[in-house]
Amino acid sequence: MNIKIDQLSKIYPNGNRALNDVNINIENGMFGLLGPNGAGKSSLMRILVTLMKPSKGQVSVNGYDLVKNRKEIRKMLGYLPQDFRFFSKLKTYEFLDYAARLAGMKSAGERSGAVDKMLEEVGLFEARDRQANKLSGGMKRRLGIAQALINNPQIIVVDEPTTGLDPEERIRFRNLLSTISTNDVIIILSTHIVGDISSTCKNMALLNRGELAYSGSPDDLVEHTKGKVWLLKATESEYMEINEKYPVISNVPTSEGWEIQVVADEINGYYGHNIDPNLEHAYVYFMESKHNQWTNG
Ligand code: ADP
Repeated sequence: MNIKIDQLSKIYPNGNRALNDVNINIENGMFGLLGPNGAGKSSLMRILVTLMKPSKGQVSVNGYDLVKNRKEIRKMLGYLPQDFRFFSKLKTYEFLDYAARLAGMKSAGERSGAVDKMLEEVGLFEARDRQANKLSGGMKRRLGIAQALINNPQIIVVDEPTTGLDPEERIRFRNLLSTISTNDVIIILSTHIVGDISSTCKNMALLNRGELAYSGSPDDLVEHTKGKVWLLKATESEYMEINEKYPVISNVPTSEGWEIQVVADEINGYYGHNIDPNLEHAYVYFMESKHNQWTNG
C-alpha cells in the first residue's frame, strides 16, 4: 500500500486555513501523525477517509485519486473517529453486524462468522450480548476498532488512539494494531500524545498550524535534536530567567536550586551540558523552532 499526499491544502469556508501545502508519503506499517490541537490532523484525516474534499492538492492511494475514485478507496478504508458514538439499545454483536452491513458485507452468514471472529480478536466475545452503549470506556474503544476492521481494510485510520483507555488497555490496543500492521496495510494514528507514537510507528509526520514540520522516522527526528537538549543547574532566580527564554521540559528541585532540562540551540551564560534527546524533546524542539520562525516573521 502507498498513500501519496501532494501539495494538500484545506481552507474552510470561514477562511480558516487548516492545512497548507502538505506533502507526505505513507508506506505499509504504522504511521504516526503528531501535532498539538489545531494542527490540522483531523482535517487531514477527514480528507483521507473521503469525508471532506481538499481545497487544493491531491492524494493518491495505490495510484487511485482520492477524489475521483472515492468509491474504490472507501472499500479499502476503516476509520475510528475520535468521538465515535454507538446507536443506543443495540447489543454489541448487533452493532458490529450493522457496521459489517454498512461496509458492504451482504450475506448474513458471512457477516455472522466475521462478527464472531472480530469480537474474539478484540476480546469482546463474552460481552457480545451486552448493550453497546453500556460497555466500559475501554470496551467501547475496542468495539470502535472492531467496526473499523470488520471488512479487512487496507487503510486504517485511528483518531486519538488512546483517548479514554487506561494503561493496560493502551498496551492491548497497541498490540492489536501492531499485529495487523504486519500485513499489506497502512495504519495511521493521529494523536497529540508523543507516547502514542514512540515504540510502534516506523514513520511519522509532525504537523503544526497546518504546516508539515517533519516527515520521516521517529529515530531520525530524535537524531536531529542531538546537541539541543540541555541539563542545567540553576538557582531560583536563574530558573525564572531560563523559563522565560527556553522551553523547560522538566524540573527537579535540588539542595542548591533546580536541575532542569531545556530544549534550545544554545544556552549562553548558563551552566549545563547536553544530554541524549528522546522523542518528547524532539517534538518540543521542532514545535518551538517552527513557532519561532513564524513569530520572527
Ligand atoms: P487538530 O485535529 O490537529 O486539532 P483540526 O483539523 O481539527 O486540527 O483543525 C485545524 C484548524 O482548522 C483549526 O484552526 C480549527 O479551528 C480549524 N477548523 C477545523 N474544522 C473547522 C471547520 N469545520 N470550520 C472552520 N474551521 C475549522
